[in-house]
Amino acid sequence: MLTKMTLKMQTQLILAGEPRPRLAGAVTMPVFQSAMYETRSEDKDYNSIQYIRCSNTPNHEALHTKLAAIEGSETALVTGSGMAAITSTLLTLLRVGDHIMMQDSLYGGTQAFLTEDGPALGLSLSSFDASKPASWEAHVTPKTRMIYVESISNPLLRIPQLAEVVRFARRHGLVACIDNTFATPINFRPIAFGFDVVIHSASKYLNGHADICAGVVAGRREVIEKVRAKVTHLGGALDPHAAWLLHRALKTLAIRVDRQNRSAETIARFLAAHPAVARVIYPGLETHPQYAQARELFSGFGGMISFEPIGGVPAAERLLERLAIISIAPSLGGVESNITRPAATTHLGVSADERQRMGIGDALLRLSIGLEDPDDLIVDLSEGLA
Ligand SMILES: *Cc1c(COP(=O)(O)O)cnc(C)c1O
Repeated sequence: MLTKMTLKMQTQLILAGEPRPRLAGAVTMPVFQSAMYETRSEDKDYNSIQYIRCSNTPNHEALHTKLAAIEGSETALVTGSGMAAITSTLLTLLRVGDHIMMQDSLYGGTQAFLTEDGPALGLSLSSFDASKPASWEAHVTPKTRMIYVESISNPLLRIPQLAEVVRFARRHGLVACIDNTFATPINFRPIAFGFDVVIHSASKYLNGHADICAGVVAGRREVIEKVRAKVTHLGGALDPHAAWLLHRALKTLAIRVDRQNRSAETIARFLAAHPAVARVIYPGLETHPQYAQARELFSGFGGMISFEPIGGVPAAERLLERLAIISIAPSLGGVESNITRPAATTHLGVSADERQRMGIGDALLRLSIGLEDPDDLIVDLSEGLA
């Protein structure tokens, strides 16, 4: 008999959390489209009463087990979106007076929540350059509670000094929190590496089919149970049908991400060699500033590529107009390839000066590689760049 410990990732994706014995013999997890459940004599507190908003229906529970198995965490929680996971986690772990150190290039929604809502909640913030550990010490105050990073940043695909982040958090008694959306647990597993809390927008790679919004928080039971209570209060639970879609999609996560890693590397090398391309940013290219770290810590370099065509915004816009296969859309991580110009979409809310300072040129394009044949994607990009 195989124990859980001996199972490899791909087997966990298929088996972990599946009901045993199978429900009515069904080989797949059914969807329980029921808002409430009969009360049981053992239900002693509010959170044990089964209700969709309490994230404790059979579809939630099965998914929590599967997600914890692949993250290597004690437990996990799904939420109604990545932002529900992020805001609920921050509101659980931080209180009035606390200070948070946030990486200087966070996902726009996270950054906006912290800067726009943080002060009214009594939180103070400072942003730090995650590639320069020597500069971090200056940010620590007696009130600092958390250090928050993303495993691969958007859209410049920078990688923090991850081992240093964990060491720094330990040294100062901070909660080390990481948004692992871009790397996925296939390419990087932050819990085993020493992070306390891992967050995902499951709307991206975990679901991978661009048809739902969902989020994940994983970590120690004691912490995740508190986040679950917060999600119950705020109302950010995931709907059972979306939970079922995410559950189904997770079974192919490793296969999808492995293929996306390989296709993206091929396409990044094609772009880097193209005479009409000014620069390519991809963690798997030797020219990437954190290439050595990515090689050492990640099992794959991911499916995201950023690049800038020669000729500025007109050249970038011309390329977008000519694409036939790759769709022009701002999200990422799905089976369809998408491309977007961050200065005109995801980073439109950031001033031009600030974007320039961050290194996000107006002509920069961010490409999410899907599951189409990479040869066809190369033809599409070649015609766009011609
Ligand atoms: C999309 C995204 C989020 C937000 O997730 P939603 O599911 O859209 O709420 C958070 N972090 C990162 C890195 C993302 O890409």
